[in-house]
Amino acid sequence: MRLILLGPPGAGKGTQAERLVARYGIVQLSTGDMLRAAVAAGTPVGRKAKDVMARGELVPDDIVIAIVAERIGQPDAKKGFILDGFPRTVPQAEALDRMLGRKRMKLDAVIELRVDEGLLLSRVERRVAEMKARGQTIRADDNPDALRRRIDAYRAQTAPLVGYYDKKGTLQVVDGMASIEEVGKAIDGLMRRRPARAGTRRRAPARNRAAVGRKRPTVNGRKAKKTTPKRSARGMATRAKAAKAAKSVRARARAGARPTARPGAGAGRKKSKRSRTRS
Ligand code: AMP
Repeated sequence: MRLILLGPPGAGKGTQAERLVARYGIVQLSTGDMLRAAVAAGTPVGRKAKDVMARGELVPDDIVIAIVAERIGQPDAKKGFILDGFPRTVPQAEALDRMLGRKRMKLDAVIELRVDEGLLLSRVERRVAEMKARGQTIRADDNPDALRRRIDAYRAQTAPLVGYYDKKGTLQVVDGMASIEEVGKAIDGLMRRRPARAGTRRRAPARNRAAVGRKRPTVNGRKAKKTTPKRSARGMATRAKAAKAAKSVRARARAGARPTARPGAGAGRKKSKRSRTRS
C-alpha cells in the first residue's frame, strides 16, 4: 500500500501516519522527520535545511526529492509506505510520479485531511502547550511566527496538490476536524473500499470465475456467442473446447442425427445419450 497524507500543519498527518504504520505494517516516510534528523546530525543536507526550517519555509525541492528518492528505494519501503509531508509542491509531486514510474510503482491513494484553516493556529498552539506540559521537546518551528509562515507556505505551495491529485482521480478527502479515532476510522473505510491500482487486475469473484467455465456454445449452425471479453488462457481453452463440441454437433446433424442439446449442459447430454440408445 502506498499512500500520501496531505494537509496543512496541525491537520494530524503525523498522528494518522503512526496509526496506519501500526495497522498495516508499512513505513512512514516523513520528510520533516528526515530533515530534522539531518539537522540534528549536522549533515550537509541538515546544514542547508536548518535555517529554512526554523523560519517555517520550505526546503528547496531538489534536496527533498533526493532524500525521498533514496528512502523509497530502501528494503523496508518495498511493502508500502505513507508519505507524510511529501510532496509539498507541484514539482515534488511530478518528481514523485517519475520516481514511482521508474520503479513501476503506483500510489493507492492520496488522502487529504481537510481542516478549518481558521482554527489551525489555535490547534497547533494547543498541541505545543500539551507537549510542553508533558515535558516533550518543542520543535524549532513550533512558534507562532514560524507556524504562520508554515500555514502560508501550505496555502501557496501545497494546496494546489489537491487539484493535482483530484484531476488524477487519486484524491480522497477526510474530515480532519473530527476526533483522532473518527479520522482513523474514515481512513480505514477508504482503505477497504480503495479501487485496484491502475494497471493491476483484481481476481474475479469465485462465482464469476466459475461462470467462465460454464459458458455454453450455441449449436445447430448458429454461431457460438462470445460472452467473455477477456482473452485469458483459461477462457481461450474453454472457447476452443466449446467450438470443437459445436462442430461435432453440426457434423452429426449433417449426418442425419437428431440435433442434441447443447454440449456442456449436463441434463441435456444425458437425455441425448438415452435417445441414442433407444434409436
Ligand atoms: P513537517 O514536519 O512536515 O511539518 O515539516 C517541517 C519542515 O520541514 C517544513 O516546515 C519544511 O521546512 C521542511 N519540509 C518538510 N517536508 C518538506 C517538503 N516536502 N518540502 C520542503 N520542505 C519540507
